[in-house]
Amino acid sequence: MASALRDELLATMESIQTVDCHSHTASREQYYEAAPLSIFNLSSYFFRDIESVTGMAPAKLYEGCNTDEQRWQRLKGVLAKARNVSYWRHNIVAFQALFGLDGEDLTDDNWHAVNDAIAERSVDPGWYDYVTEGVCNLRTQVRNIPWFEDWEPRYFTAILRMEPALELWQPEPRGRLEEHLDQEISDLSSCAQAIGALVEQYRERGAVGIKLAHAYRRTLHSERVSAVAASVIFERALRGERLSPAQIKQFEDYVIFFLADLCAQTGLVFDIHTGVQGNWGRVPESDPVLLLPLIHAHRSTRFNLYHAGYPYSREMGILGKHCPNVWLNMAWMYVITMEGSRQSLSEWIDLVPGFRILGFGSDVGWPELIWAHLLMARSCIADVLEEKVRRDFLSRDAALDLARMMVRDNGVDFYGLDS
Ligand SMILES: [Zn+2]
Repeated sequence: MASALRDELLATMESIQTVDCHSHTASREQYYEAAPLSIFNLSSYFFRDIESVTGMAPAKLYEGCNTDEQRWQRLKGVLAKARNVSYWRHNIVAFQALFGLDGEDLTDDNWHAVNDAIAERSVDPGWYDYVTEGVCNLRTQVRNIPWFEDWEPRYFTAILRMEPALELWQPEPRGRLEEHLDQEISDLSSCAQAIGALVEQYRERGAVGIKLAHAYRRTLHSERVSAVAASVIFERALRGERLSPAQIKQFEDYVIFFLADLCAQTGLVFDIHTGVQGNWGRVPESDPVLLLPLIHAHRSTRFNLYHAGYPYSREMGILGKHCPNVWLNMAWMYVITMEGSRQSLSEWIDLVPGFRILGFGSDVGWPELIWAHLLMARSCIADVLEEKVRRDFLSRDAALDLARMMVRDNGVDFYGLDS
């Protein structure tokens, strides 16, 4: 809804640099390796809906096509069934904002021009910087860095991805860590020491935290396992004996608690994926409330819970209210659902001290889709804050402060970007 305050909120967010509080953006090098891009691959999450519409892997959609005309016909068939979803609308916003799409939809008449514009711009050597720095005006992107990989500090601030630590009962990931550190893992304590050494290497190079996305494949619930119990399990694994699913979970839980302890000691933040998964995801396992034993046991660890825990955003709001060590992160959310984003933010603003709401995380692969996501985010944030002032007795001043805090200041403070 248009109003002077909504415009002022938008102008406030446009006037400052945004901290992208969760990123997977392709590096400059990866981007130009993939270029020229097209309407068929300049996309982020719509592939999941392609899969859900067609019942086949997204790569198969264009199998056997020799021309973009043929590919367009296939895509058009999917769009006839699914162009309503937010994952697709995200692409439309990018096409409109950066590639001259003049219309509300991609059609037989305009797809070609958009496709040509993408192909042309994505090979321009200045385009990547123009989009990330010029258009998006990002202060930094807090990016997931897989084990042993590097990042470009010009664009990114690192968060080390930690799922491999949960897999160290297996020889292959264990071997890679041993090789990287040039040290042997012979028991549980040398295993924990090795994890700590790797995290320390990244911390020394500027990483500000660690991340787990185990909710994609197991429950977020974990409990403290004693070192004695974990040792017995780990030694079985070292001897090459089979572990039961319960034993594997116990080992993982031990490592998860160890990681939370490590964060308390080092000041690193602990980012955790919660909520939304992919197709066939086991939804209830991703409920952030399942993290309570971990959060309660680590009161001086700062937890950063992603994706608004959607659809458990209300639960996450109360988690944020009751647990002063929990930050609530809107990463990915606006392209999942703008309406769900508005509802989540609106409730959280009533519940949670504003400095613990991280209002934007792009969570996409291509810079162009960061920009489209940011436009959707600003629109939702402005909608919510305008409404809180008009209806819910929030002061105009507090709303303008919150806009700045959610897109910039909270990220700077939380990740310690100024220090
Ligand atoms: Zn992510």
